[in-house]
Amino acid sequence: MRRESSFMSGSPALPLEEAARRLGVSWDAMARRAARRLPLRFPEEYLEIVDPEDPEDPLRRIAWPHPEELEADPEAVPDPVGEGGRRLHRLVLQKYADRALLLVTERCHFYCRFCFRADGGREPAPGELAEAIALLAKRPGLRELIFSGGDPLVLPNARLEELFALCGELPELETLRIHTRAPIHDPARVDDGLLTALESAPLPVWTVVHATHPRELRASVLGALAKWRRGGFPLMSQSVLLRGVNDDVGTLAALFRGLYREGVKPYYLHHPDRIAGTARFRLSLTEGLALYRALRESVPGPALPRYVLDLPDGTGKVPVESLVEEEPGLWSVLRPGGRRSVYRDIAPRHPYTGS
Ligand code: SF4
Repeated sequence: MRRESSFMSGSPALPLEEAARRLGVSWDAMARRAARRLPLRFPEEYLEIVDPEDPEDPLRRIAWPHPEELEADPEAVPDPVGEGGRRLHRLVLQKYADRALLLVTERCHFYCRFCFRADGGREPAPGELAEAIALLAKRPGLRELIFSGGDPLVLPNARLEELFALCGELPELETLRIHTRAPIHDPARVDDGLLTALESAPLPVWTVVHATHPRELRASVLGALAKWRRGGFPLMSQSVLLRGVNDDVGTLAALFRGLYREGVKPYYLHHPDRIAGTARFRLSLTEGLALYRALRESVPGPALPRYVLDLPDGTGKVPVESLVEEEPGLWSVLRPGGRRSVYRDIAPRHPYTGS
């Protein structure tokens, strides 16, 4: 297990020139500029599943920057999931009374080019997470705290244990949840020390593994998931629907069947958020719905995740199937309390023929 100061990884990160060589791309001025928007980091083991001969390889597509990241993006939404008004603290987001998100780090083992969360911001200062958790003690009805980031599993096991113990002080908290892509990007991170840390938690810990493509479910990943499962900790998954990566029924079905077979319950399939610089990954709701309806015929019920849209107005996630198209491209949904949320979609752009 490797430590880079407070950063814990199982597989060494490659120098960027070497990573570029293995991906069949150049570590050029564009990549350098894009890396200032969202960092680059490549665990050696993950790069082994990328095909350097295929310019449209789906895993290379999520790994390496594209010039459009640096261009104007008229479809982008400045705050794509409406978090602006939901910050209780720099490190706490709360959209629902019974749960909140704790941003325990800004760092990841690998940076997915479609992500909005890893923004290269400032790491929590000493004491800042404890301060955020103490603030949550004053929120009545808080039942679940979700560790997010960045990827919470970049933190050393001892640090996770400290945070779990602090969460145990929250009076009404019933469960902890971890959102992570570490078992996929860096399966060696799932070590005995991590299982010991999970066992130390004073509350049940649910883990949601973020998986994107069935090729990610290689032998090392299956081993990490089996280890987790043998530890007795429940696993769910979330995925983002991404154009040119997993936007066909066969790929999604293979991904969800593969997760289900490994004891991971597919939980959410997210419609892609309108993050600046990510137009190449977007689909319209019409395209996503057609895929999802076909998917229903291709996987067993328990292996079918919920297809959801996180609304830009900050009211949270809704099943895409609950949205109604009021006029071409304008969708709406009734929210609790009788308020109506509207969503202006992008124009359909299928079929995918390259970026
Ligand atoms: S691992 Fe998660 S938080 Fe990090 S870049 Fe990928 S999707 Fe974003």
